[in-house]
Amino acid sequence: MKPFVHQALASRVVFGAGSLQQLEREIDALGATRALVLSTPEQADAARRVAELLGARAAGIFPRAVMHVPIETAREARDEARRLGADCAVAIGGGSTTGLGKAIALDSGLPIIAIPTTYAGSEMTSIYGLTEAGVKKTGRDLRVLPRTVIYDPELSVSLPIGLTVTSGLNAIAHAAEGLYAFDGNPIVSLMAEEGIRAIAAALPRLTAAPTDLDARGDALYGAWLCGSVLGAVAMGLHHKLCHTLGGSFNLPHAEVHTVVLPHALAYNAAHAPEAIRRIARALGTESAAAGLFDLAQRLGVPVALKDIGMPGDGLDRAADLAVQTPYPNPRPLERAAIRELLQHAFDGARPP
Ligand code: NAD
Repeated sequence: MKPFVHQALASRVVFGAGSLQQLEREIDALGATRALVLSTPEQADAARRVAELLGARAAGIFPRAVMHVPIETAREARDEARRLGADCAVAIGGGSTTGLGKAIALDSGLPIIAIPTTYAGSEMTSIYGLTEAGVKKTGRDLRVLPRTVIYDPELSVSLPIGLTVTSGLNAIAHAAEGLYAFDGNPIVSLMAEEGIRAIAAALPRLTAAPTDLDARGDALYGAWLCGSVLGAVAMGLHHKLCHTLGGSFNLPHAEVHTVVLPHALAYNAAHAPEAIRRIARALGTESAAAGLFDLAQRLGVPVALKDIGMPGDGLDRAADLAVQTPYPNPRPLERAAIRELLQHAFDGARPP
C-alpha cells in the first residue's frame, strides 16, 4: 500500500426515486427559508414545478442557465437572488445549471442545493468555471461545493437517449482518469471502478428502455461515484484534450468526452497498466479503450470528432494547445503522438 492523502468533501447526498419530495426538508436543514430556483430555458418547466412544490419557500425562478456560465448571466442571477431576498439556491439540471449555482455561491456564499438531471458530476466537486470575454476560467473553491445533492432518478427519465449515453460516458471519463491520477488513493479507486461498472451496465438497459427507473437509478448512482472521483483527484490528458477541444472549437461537452476517451486511454495504456486493467474489468471487456469505443458505437452515439463539428484543419492547433500547460498525466505529452491521437479521434478509428 502506497502512502496517500484523502480529503473528503463535506456534502450531504439524498438518493432515491421520488426524493425531490425531500427538498423542503433539506432547505429547512440548511436553516434557509427562501430558495431561488435555477434551470436552463429548456428545463424551465422543471424549475416551475420545483417552485410550486416549495410554495412560500420559493423566492422565484431564474431559468436562464447556459453552457460555460457567462459572467453576465452569473451576475444577473446573483442580482436576482439579492433582489428577491433568497437565502439559498436550488439548481435543477445538468452541469450548466449547477455551474450557475456555483458562480452565485463563489461570490455570495449562498448555500446551493443541486438536483442533477444528467450524469456530468459537477454537483460533487468544488470546481467552478466562468466565461469572461470568451475565455473560460476554472478554479477550485470550497464555497461552490453544493451543500446538499438530491439524486432523484425520476428526473433523468426525460434526458434524451443520446445525451443519456454521452453524459454517462462523460462520467466514466472522470472515473477512468481518477484511476491513474497522481494523487489517487484506494478509496477513490474503489469509487471509480464501481462507478464505471454501474454506468456501463445501465446504459445498454437505458437505450433499450429509456424510462426504466431501476436503470436510471443505477446510472445516477454511478454518476454520483464518478463525480466524487472528479471532486477528489486531479484529471489528466483526457480532460485536458476535452477542455481544449470544447473551449477552442465549441464542440458539445458530453460528446467530446465520448469520442476522445478511448483514444486518451490507448495513449496512456502502457504507462498506467493497473488503472487500465481495472477499467477493463469494470466494463467486462479485454481492452479498456476498445471496450469503451465499442460501447459507444453499439449505443449509437458519435465516435468521431469529424461528426461532432470538429474542423479537420483545426487538429494541428488543437495538438499545440493540448501540450501547453499540460495536466499531470501518466505518459508525458508528446506533440507528435498527441497529433496522431487527435487524428484517430477525428477519423473515428477503433483503438486497440
Ligand atoms: P447541460 O447542463 O449543458 O445540459 C444539456 C441540455 O440538456 C440542457 O439544455 C439541459 O437543460 C438539458 N437537460 C438536462 N437534463 C435534462 C433532463 N433530465 N431532461 C431533459 N433535458 C435535460 O449538460 P451537462 O453535460 O450536464 O453539463 C455540461 C457542462 O457542465 C459543461 O459546461 C461542463 O464544463 C460543466 N461541468 C462542470 C463540472 C465541474 O465539476 N465544474 C463537471 C462536469 C461538467
